[in-house]
Amino acid sequence: MDELCRRTAEWLKEAERVVVFTGAGISTESGIPDFRSPNGVWSKVEPVYFQDFLRRATARREYWRQKADSHQAMYFAEPNAGHRIIAGWEARGNLRGVITQNIDGLHQSAGSRNVLELHGTAREIACLDCQERYDADPFVRQFLESLEVPDCPACSGVLKHATISFGQQLDAQVIRKAGIWARDCDLFITIGSSLVVTPAADLPLTAVDYGARLIIINREPTQLDSAADIVIHGEIGATLRQINALLTD
Ligand code: NAD
Ligand code: ZN
Repeated sequence: MDELCRRTAEWLKEAERVVVFTGAGISTESGIPDFRSPNGVWSKVEPVYFQDFLRRATARREYWRQKADSHQAMYFAEPNAGHRIIAGWEARGNLRGVITQNIDGLHQSAGSRNVLELHGTAREIACLDCQERYDADPFVRQFLESLEVPDCPACSGVLKHATISFGQQLDAQVIRKAGIWARDCDLFITIGSSLVVTPAADLPLTAVDYGARLIIINREPTQLDSAADIVIHGEIGATLRQINALLTD
């Protein structure tokens, strides 16, 4: 592990265009459960599919109930050492940006500026009719008080968190930009993702196809481990601290 961290730090120093790709694992140390761990979100609730959300009022209420449940933990979470270290790498100058599958906004809270949110953000609500965006907090409070799904204040349209649900298309602009970053980097580091959800999980392979080195940092094996140049199976906070200490040597 020490040797792998040392080599990672060396590659980080040498690289000209680094891309960091994160999943729910980077935020578990901020108290937000991931999806696929034993205590993860999918061990507790069934996701509401986008088509159901559109078709059925009961599905919309269930969706809002689930979002209200996870709201406190996500909206008021603080970034952890991992988020802050990655923000620090951007300040060094060779980090193109962070592509994240997370919807918690913690990279930005930690100071990262170039962030592509593949799955949107739970910090905001979007109107599916007029596209207006709102801060999520007052709408979740309103739902918790009334247990009625709120309407868009501007057009009375359907309101949903500004996140991508199962069955909902990713934002074409965001995924296009992520593809460009993956093709154009020389070091791609994935941190805290099980790498099973596509097309997001294709990005590391795109980077490799276009000649980048691939580093995977995750507590457990992923299906892309065999494609990586370095695989570190460890806790994210401790691992990134160790790499960072070697970077500033
Ligand atoms: P995932 O749950 O499938 O995988 C997370 C991985 O991180 C797991 O392999 C787990 O072993 C590892 N991990 C967890 N904590 C760790 C730690 N402290 N140190 C090292 N490894 C750790 O999540 P994913 O790959 O991001 O994919 C699925 C989806 O989860 C995404 O679509 C995302 O939108 C959604 N999601 C986001 C959040 C969030 O915003 N924080 C939370 C839950 C789910
Ligand atoms: Zn509207």
